[in-house]
This record gives sequence, structure tokens and C-alpha cells, in this order.
Amino acid sequence: MGRWPVQAVPAAVGTPRAGQAGAGRVLAAEPVAGYVAGGDVADDLAQDTAAAQAAEVALAAAVDQLLAVPVDELDDAGITAQLAVIEQAGRRLDARRCRLVASLAERRTARARERARATGQDDQRAAQRARRDLQRELAEEHQWSTSDAKRSLDVGDQLGTDSAAQSAFDAGVLPPRHAKLLADTLRHLHGQQREQASRRLVAAAAQQDAHTFGRTCRRLLAELDGPAAIDAETRRHHRRRASVATTEDGMLALTGQWSGVDAEVVATAVDAFRSPDPAGVGRTPEHRTADAIVELARAALRAGEAASVHGVRPHVNITVDYAAILDDAEVVAHGGQASTQVVETTWAGPLPFAEVRRLLADAGVSRLLVDADGVPVEAGAQVRSVPAGLWRSLHARDRGCIAEGCDAPAAWCDVMHLDRPYRLEGPLTIDTAGLGCRHHHRCFDLYGWQVVWDDRRPRLRPPT
Ligand SMILES: [Zn+2]
Repeated sequence: MGRWPVQAVPAAVGTPRAGQAGAGRVLAAEPVAGYVAGGDVADDLAQDTAAAQAAEVALAAAVDQLLAVPVDELDDAGITAQLAVIEQAGRRLDARRCRLVASLAERRTARARERARATGQDDQRAAQRARRDLQRELAEEHQWSTSDAKRSLDVGDQLGTDSAAQSAFDAGVLPPRHAKLLADTLRHLHGQQREQASRRLVAAAAQQDAHTFGRTCRRLLAELDGPAAIDAETRRHHRRRASVATTEDGMLALTGQWSGVDAEVVATAVDAFRSPDPAGVGRTPEHRTADAIVELARAALRAGEAASVHGVRPHVNITVDYAAILDDAEVVAHGGQASTQVVETTWAGPLPFAEVRRLLADAGVSRLLVDADGVPVEAGAQVRSVPAGLWRSLHARDRGCIAEGCDAPAAWCDVMHLDRPYRLEGPLTIDTAGLGCRHHHRCFDLYGWQVVWDDRRPRLRPPT
């Protein structure tokens, strides 16, 4: 996110009077570092410096004036007009900020190069280090994020060396994100191609929102220069990242970004698992994406394509105390829903027993015998709680979720154990099982939904 450069303008203390510094800066009284030179050049510089400082005071004063008018006293048209003026000024000042940062970087890197050459060190490296140091310094000084600092530097570098782009930027035609996209495109082009791209993109920027403009930039780059487009894609690829972390309140936080074909693969897979809302359920787009990612992960684990760990395909693994299962079964058998048994999981931490009932409904179950200290001493063979033959029968009979009004297809469904939430032993049969979508399986397990049999077909209804 771009930060409005108004923050970079020294805030005036009170309203500055003519000839007085409003920002706690002493004007003209002492030479500004870097501006000291001799002879006529020094006179010119002194004049420019004085002019710049006068403009800075005037800018602060103008902002003061603007802020002095209470917002309540503006009519709707006045507010709209002022928003437009501020937006325009913000963009123009952003252009100035980027130029200032780029110029500072140029000077710092030139000096770093000189010093490195004088001492026989790698000057390229010294220049890179100087740039990084400046980014960090600016970020600290102005409370920018490091990416804000990098953006200002990149944009200043690229647009500053391109007159068409810089005039558009100066004129306030380029919003911050457009400026960054333009800079990222121009950096890959040279000579006539660069000029041509710059003209076309500046025109497009005025018409398009940032997303559309980004597409225009990428398309144009690919049309003008194939290898450059690959370079740009490689840079994006280097910026790929994802993190999966558990939060302190027991959720799993997943964030990430991908580019190119990888992005297409991820988006296609998530989209493929986005299921329609069951009847009576209104999910937000974020809920739907979150649910789709769960389905995607379940499918991946089912398919067994993930790398194996010591010959065992990864699957969600929970170890439950047998006594806890009996206890929970007892609670459910007497119409209760909430057992106080706690289950430890690998990632999500402690969970109430009712939350893992769904897992037990369709799982590989094996007995693990532990000694008094909880150390495993014997492991039994794993058996599926839902055999493949039963799944096929359920598929044929139920076709999809058995909840009334729900049209979730079988592919989206779990096997629900209808007589008891899950079976401890003995064969599960077609007369004790039914298909349920994730939502209705949850309703059945946790919220007391009832099964009624109609002509040997089960139907799931909300509690009466
Ligand atoms: Zn359903």
C-alpha cells in the first residue's frame, strides 16, 4: 500500500509567518549538507536551495490553510472537490518523493562505488549495500514499511529516466500502484521499445484500474520483448511465498502468493473445489475459499500422491484414548452432544471430542497399546471404518447429501454413521450409514439433526 506523501512534508507548528520556518527547520541560516560548493556554482545552489525551502514552507502553510477549514462547513460538492484536489496533490507529491529518494540513492551509491574502488573492493556490491542501507534508513525515519521504501526507490529510478513517464507522474496522472507497475515494466525495456511502451502505458494508466493496467503492462511487455517478459516473470517467481502457521487462539493461518503457471494451477484447483452453498446456508466468499482449500487438502491426502513418511502416506493422525471413545459414545447414546473429553492433534492443538467425531466416522483405525507411562508397546493392523464396497452402495442409494433440500453431490460428502456417530466395532452396513456434505455432517454430529427412514432411504432433518 502506498502511503500518502503528505506525511513526508514537515508538519508546520502553528501557522508560519512569512520568512519563518514552520517545521522546526532553520531556513537559509546554515548550509544544507551536500549543497556546499565554491564560486558561481555555489551561488546557483544557494539560490535553488532557498527556493526549495521557500516552497516547502509554502506547502506546509497551504496544508495548514486547507486543514483550518472545518469539514462540517463543506457541502457535499465541496467535499468531493477537495477529495479530488487532495488525490491529485498526493500523486504529484508521490512523484516528487520517488525522485528525491532515487536521487539520494544515486549519490549514495556513487560515493560507495568510489570508496570501494579506492580500497580495491567490489564496487557493485558496495553500491547494492548502500541502496539497501538507504532503504532501511528511510523506512525507519519515515515509518515506512521496507516495501514502501523499495517502491519509492524503484519507481524513482525507472520513471526519473523516462521523460514521458515522469511528466505523467508529475502531472498527477499516475496513482501510486500504477506508477509501480509502469516502473516494473519499463525496467526490462531499452531504447525505442522503452519509449514506445512508455507512451502507450501512460495513456492506458489514465483509463484503467490497477488490475487491468497490470494486465496491460504484462501483455505489452510480452508482445514487445519475449526474453524481457520471461525476466519479469522470473522476478515475480522469486517473490513467491506462502506461510502456514497456527495462531495462538487455535486457528491455522494460510497466506501466500504465486505467479505464472503456478498461480494458474493454485487458482484452478481452489476453484475446482469451490462447492455450491447447501440450501439454507449463506457463506461469504472467504468462507467458500476456506472450505474449498479444506476439500483440496482432503482430496490430496486421499489421492495418496503426497510424499510418504517412512512408507506411510500422510493422513490426518489423531491418537484417542479408548476410554474417551467409550465415554463419548455413552454421552451421545443418552442424547447428549458435548463430551468433556479432549483430543490432542499434531497441528491444531487440543480439540473437544465432538469435533473429531467426524474423522472417526470414516477413517483407518488401529489399536495402539501403551504402557503405564504412555509409551506404545504394540500396534494393531489398520482397518477402514468404511469399506470401499459400502461406499459404492451408499453412492448408488443416496447420490448425494441426505439432508432435505441439499443438493451437494456424493463427491462432496462424508459417510455419516447414522445409528451412532461412529462405530467402535462390528460391520457398518448400508442400513446404518448415509452420505452427508460437510455442513450437514456437522449439523448431524453437533446440532442434534435427526435421521428419518423413508422407504429404506434415510433423510436428515433439523431438530424439531
Ligand atoms: Zn448437505
